[in-house]
Amino acid sequence: MQKKSLTEDAQEVFRAIALIELGARMQVLESELTLSRDRMIRLYREVKGVSPPKGMLPFSADWYMTWLANIHASLFYNTYLFLKNEARCTHLDALTKGYRLYLEHCRHSETEPVLDLTRAWTLVRFFDADMLQLTRCCRCTGKFVAHKHDLQHNVVCGACQPPSRAGKTKKAAAAKREALREAAPVPQIVEIAPAEEQVVEEAALAA
Ligand SMILES: [Zn+2]
Repeated sequence: MQKKSLTEDAQEVFRAIALIELGARMQVLESELTLSRDRMIRLYREVKGVSPPKGMLPFSADWYMTWLANIHASLFYNTYLFLKNEARCTHLDALTKGYRLYLEHCRHSETEPVLDLTRAWTLVRFFDADMLQLTRCCRCTGKFVAHKHDLQHNVVCGACQPPSRAGKTKKAAAAKREALREAAPVPQIVEIAPAEEQVVEEAALAA
């Protein structure tokens, strides 16, 4: 392996810290950085205070096709592409800056982020592997994430055509969460979040 200068080494460490802070899994770090696995695990423990989670990344390209995930993925990927192609950022800079902008956007619009950093990274990988494409919406003219060989003409994005149950389901889930919180003050709340996500995904699939 080519010997790195101290400056390059320090830059890699800072990149790793930025990625870990944003929630990157070990697979992301290992594929984006040249630091040794041991050092990255140590960094992970220092930054997060816990060992990195083990296991495979269980993501498929279909995840990005459900209604809500698709809107979030499209927002992130358009930002990423702008940073990479127009602002001339490197892939890694576009990933971290684009993901920060995405989180900022969610905060401003008081929306829960749907995409975590690892999902954002996987999304870029799927585009690089030519599994996904951006398709132009015929109503708002925005570009949204679609499967590679999906129809390209006269298609409408999820933001322009939300599933009819989308709002209701979210409201119902929030009401359910509120009701459960009142009924069982502490321990149950942790278990509710994934179920709610599933309800929203189901709504998107049903549409
Ligand atoms: Zn649209």
